[in-house]
Amino acid sequence: MDLLTLLGSILPRDGVLTGTDMAGYVQDWWGRQQGQALCIALPRDTAEVSAIVSACAAAGHGVIPQGGNTGLTGAASPASTAGDRLPVIVSLARMRRIRDIDVANFTISVDAGCILADVHAAAEAHQRLFPVSLGAEGSCQIGGIVSTNAGGTNVLRYGSTRENVLGLEVVLPDGTVWNGMKGLRKDNTGYDLRQLFIGAEGTLGIVTGAVLKLHPLSRVHATAWLALDSPASALAVLNRLRATCGERLTTFELLNAAQLAAVVACQPKLRVPVEAPWHLLVELADMTEAGSLEALLFDTVGEALSGGELLDAIPATSDSQRAAYWALRHGTAEANRSSGVVLSADISVPVASVPAFLENASNAVRNVFARATTMVVSHMGDGNIHFGTHFDTADWQAMRDPAATTLAVRRIVNDCADALGGSFSAEHGIGRKLTEELAKRADPAELLLMRRIKAAIDPAGIMNPGCLLS
Ligand SMILES: Cc1cc2nc3c(=O)[nH]c(=O)nc-3n(C[C@H](O)[C@H](O)[C@H](O)COP(=O)(O)OP(=O)(O)OC[C@H]3O[C@@H](n4cnc5c(N)ncnc54)[C@H](O)[C@@H]3O)c2cc1C
Repeated sequence: MDLLTLLGSILPRDGVLTGTDMAGYVQDWWGRQQGQALCIALPRDTAEVSAIVSACAAAGHGVIPQGGNTGLTGAASPASTAGDRLPVIVSLARMRRIRDIDVANFTISVDAGCILADVHAAAEAHQRLFPVSLGAEGSCQIGGIVSTNAGGTNVLRYGSTRENVLGLEVVLPDGTVWNGMKGLRKDNTGYDLRQLFIGAEGTLGIVTGAVLKLHPLSRVHATAWLALDSPASALAVLNRLRATCGERLTTFELLNAAQLAAVVACQPKLRVPVEAPWHLLVELADMTEAGSLEALLFDTVGEALSGGELLDAIPATSDSQRAAYWALRHGTAEANRSSGVVLSADISVPVASVPAFLENASNAVRNVFARATTMVVSHMGDGNIHFGTHFDTADWQAMRDPAATTLAVRRIVNDCADALGGSFSAEHGIGRKLTEELAKRADPAELLLMRRIKAAIDPAGIMNPGCLLS
């Protein structure tokens, strides 16, 4: 029996998509990588995932796990070049069950296909918080954030996905199901296998379930939009806020004027609250009453204004104003997809080196590509910078060798990160976009260990071939 027929016998009739029905699945979020797949398989539970993976393994076809397909490194869709055996994309879109909420244990157990925003809502219904939050939360899935170890806007206070996963259920490359769905904060029974699958980008197995760590739900927020003249001033404000507000500081996002102009061009209803070269969105969250939290933020911001660190400060005085500030922040990815060509790098450096990185990288890119604009949106509180090099469409079309330009920009920016002890992939992963960078920049012993782990768990190399390790 051929693989398609076999998959058709495992899944219901509408559980296998082929031909033009695959359109939304075989292209990456940017629309830059368009590949081919044998089919899309849509399992409804872990047993079906196991049967699909076993069938693919027996037939020697690759398996690409796919969540919401919002990843930014081309990891969840096939490469543009097709091999002789096309991969099967396994989409978890039909596995959306909240399995259990243990309110006393502060845990939630979910199917990996649950949408992140639905998990937020389920936790909030019980006065609990699942803190991983990002612009794609209305469409990305738990399996996707686990497999990319997504960060987002709350890492400063709560850590990234890795810090918020207690247990996993995974279908291994031979179809075996590993049940590690434990909700324990302490469990020293040997190697911590769960960590292997977090950030593995679907190269070691398919995550089918997760036990997530919950936190007390913050009852009040205080939010402000701050205007500044430089990233160095932003660092001073960060230090000041951390000193006075401690754990209550959840969000510290830096954007430059060019990035905000692109957001407003993409969503003309939005308005940047004040003109300035640099902007911050800051937010505190707490359990106390709103008045004292706002007072704490206003007092601290007032001191920063008097100290000359800020040009202006506009607190959010209503829920709608707060939402408008967040819309500007969350509009950046969509703006960068639709505004000319933005070559985006996902850098992290030690927090105090953020200003130096921004200055060095902007100068280095400008020295080679004088007409390019720098677009910056940064989770500055945790040292993560999304550094975009923007070319307008006409300049890009006139470019003799766009692929060479893409690589040149990548190398220039990543070299600046390396020089400051940074990383060329802070929260988006390696995917298919950065395999050469990993091979070039990773410590050789680290690469060797990664290859050995891959070979031990997936000896036939069927899980997400070509992703992470080329
Ligand atoms: C608007 C926007 C804003 C974003 N903001 C942020 C941000 O602030 N911080 C951040 O870290 N990222 C951000 N991202 C990128 C981020 O990586 C994804 O949004 C999210 O983590 C991916 O989830 P997904 O379900 O879409 O996964 P996909 O894109 O479908 O997959 C991503 C990777 O995970 C693998 N995978 C997916 N599901 C499974 C599974 N069940 N088992 C095994 N492997 C699986 C895939 O094979 C692939 O390697 C943003 C993306 C967008 C479009």
